[in-house]
Amino acid sequence: MIFLFDFRLFSQEFIRPVVTNYGVWKLRECIIIRLVDSDGNVAFGEVSPLPWFGSETMEDALSFCVQLQGKISQDGIFQIPDFLPACQFAFESALASLQKNQQLINYENLDFCGLLPSGKDAINQCLILENQGYTTFKWKIGVEDTDTEIEIFKLLISQLPSSAKLRLDANGGLNFDSTKLWLSICDQFSEQVEFLEQPLSADKFGEMLELSNVYQTKIALDESIATLQQLKQCYQQGWHGIFVIKPAIVGSPSRLKQFCQQHPIDLVFSSVFETEIGRKAALNLALELSNYHRALGFGVQHYFRETELNWLENLWNKN
Ligand SMILES: [Mg+2]
Repeated sequence: MIFLFDFRLFSQEFIRPVVTNYGVWKLRECIIIRLVDSDGNVAFGEVSPLPWFGSETMEDALSFCVQLQGKISQDGIFQIPDFLPACQFAFESALASLQKNQQLINYENLDFCGLLPSGKDAINQCLILENQGYTTFKWKIGVEDTDTEIEIFKLLISQLPSSAKLRLDANGGLNFDSTKLWLSICDQFSEQVEFLEQPLSADKFGEMLELSNVYQTKIALDESIATLQQLKQCYQQGWHGIFVIKPAIVGSPSRLKQFCQQHPIDLVFSSVFETEIGRKAALNLALELSNYHRALGFGVQHYFRETELNWLENLWNKN
């Protein structure tokens, strides 16, 4: 089966920049792809790369789209090379939606983790999200100095309802000693701290494995498992903690599914600030693969202005 293919660039400015250990991120750019089958059925997919995380760049993705010259076969979709993981996700999920392999999601029933800004702004934002019904929150650390962040952490914990959960994400920005410090503090609040995410950079796997056996607080790998190959490697090297999966950049959804069905691992799914196209596809996958029922890391809507209802139609007609 050959599909007609075309694509458009789309970007959204964040209401407030996303500040992490990587720096300040202001604009989310992506490529929306469209497949049309021989009966004229249409489906969309989204390429939302995160190159500092190990995916292809927008340029890589664009040149892939351009060289297709307006068509791609079903085999071609499953043969997209591994160095284009965000493209693998976009094309496979568009294909799944054409083949009606996606379930309809009832968003009402999903439990999302709300993303807080770094620093002390987290305290106010947490109250706002709490009022919207969130009970799980994620706070970025490793941005300011450790002592300051620990003080803010204690304030944040003190205002959380006792049933709420807090995830800390360092984006690899801690060192061995500050990781130990954070883990020992988290152990004191084990009721509320769900896990510490990626304390050390991806090349420090051995250290994270060691620490995961010493403290009660769970460690989650994120940057270490940005692609499916890395995920498999960490699993084989004995990682039994939590795996954070960003479906939009991890690579082929069908191969991810296969791996997760054969190896029931503790998964947390997480957004890369997709539009509703990528979001739906990612949530579909998440719902299919979640074993442990952890909150979905897709509580990021408050980072964007609401898009116009017919944004997709406009995007195609404009160009
Ligand atoms: Mg993370």
